[in-house]
Amino acid sequence: MPHTTTEPDFIKDLKLGDRFRFPGEGTGLVYGPVCTAESSYMLHWTDVFLGQGEVMNRHAFTRVEILSRAPKCACGSFLEYCENECPWPDELEELYASRYR
Ligand SMILES: [Zn+2]
Repeated sequence: MPHTTTEPDFIKDLKLGDRFRFPGEGTGLVYGPVCTAESSYMLHWTDVFLGQGEVMNRHAFTRVEILSRAPKCACGSFLEYCENECPWPDELEELYASRYR
């Protein structure tokens, strides 16, 4: 199911496990799953880590269409932000680790 929202999604908001595309770029081009997205302090740029050493650098407010959102953890926050040490699904743990390879 496509992710639908009334809020625009920006590349700076991508989370671990998200799959996305750029509006207008064509339906065949899907990126992800995302390992992590790190933005510069002033939100000028966002580096999106896609695993296997692949990094995409775009303006932080580049519009993206999120096709599938990462699952949230047991306490209801994004896994990356969880402070309760909820267990991560194996595939996300693996994905996150791949950022540092
Ligand atoms: Zn949690």
